[in-house]
Amino acid sequence: KGYTYIGQNITDKKTIEESSQRDQLTKIYNRKKLDEVIQNEYKTSKRYGTNLSLIVLDIDFFKLVNDTHGHLIGDSVLIQFANMLEINLRQNDTVGRWGGEEFVIICPNSNNEEARHLAEKLRILIENFEFDVVKHKTASFGVTQLKEGDTINSFINRADSALYKAKETGRNK
Ligand code: GH3
Ligand code: MG
Ligand code: MG
Repeated sequence: KGYTYIGQNITDKKTIEESSQRDQLTKIYNRKKLDEVIQNEYKTSKRYGTNLSLIVLDIDFFKLVNDTHGHLIGDSVLIQFANMLEINLRQNDTVGRWGGEEFVIICPNSNNEEARHLAEKLRILIENFEFDVVKHKTASFGVTQLKEGDTINSFINRADSALYKAKETGRNK
């Protein structure tokens, strides 16, 4: 009985730890977990001189989904979107929900070109995916590689600027 009790306790602890890392809606990693992974990968990259790249992506005209079909359909698009990202990732990459309809992918051991290639693959997958009810949606991407002299903030900001540029120059790119 004692054994069972201890086993149960550990399982509970694991579940709590796991759920604090997960976004409630989509069940993929949340911002807190992404921050941890970025910090760890940043340190590894600095120490060993390995590449590190970052992809930020944001669904195009997502507000329109809510406005046209309601918040629940919007939620279901976010869930389908997150699942698609997770299924199509490479093994060493980490994806999570950064907030709202914005997602981040951390790509260790990848240079800018390799991350850009992954982003382009995902962009095409998203463009061709048929979501329930809303059918076709697109997303815009910002991709960058960690550079000498980067802080975590400057690294993330550069990816954000690239995303902003993609939005400004027509989206779905
Ligand atoms: P853009 O192409 O410039 O990104 O336009 P957008 O409409 O996607 O961007 P905007 O930032 O104007 O709108 C984002 C919307 O996402 C607004 C907000 O209500 C919605 N949203 C954020 N989080 C959630 C959520 O958890 N569920 C639902 N249904 N909607 C959400
Ligand atoms: Mg958007
Ligand atoms: Mg947004």
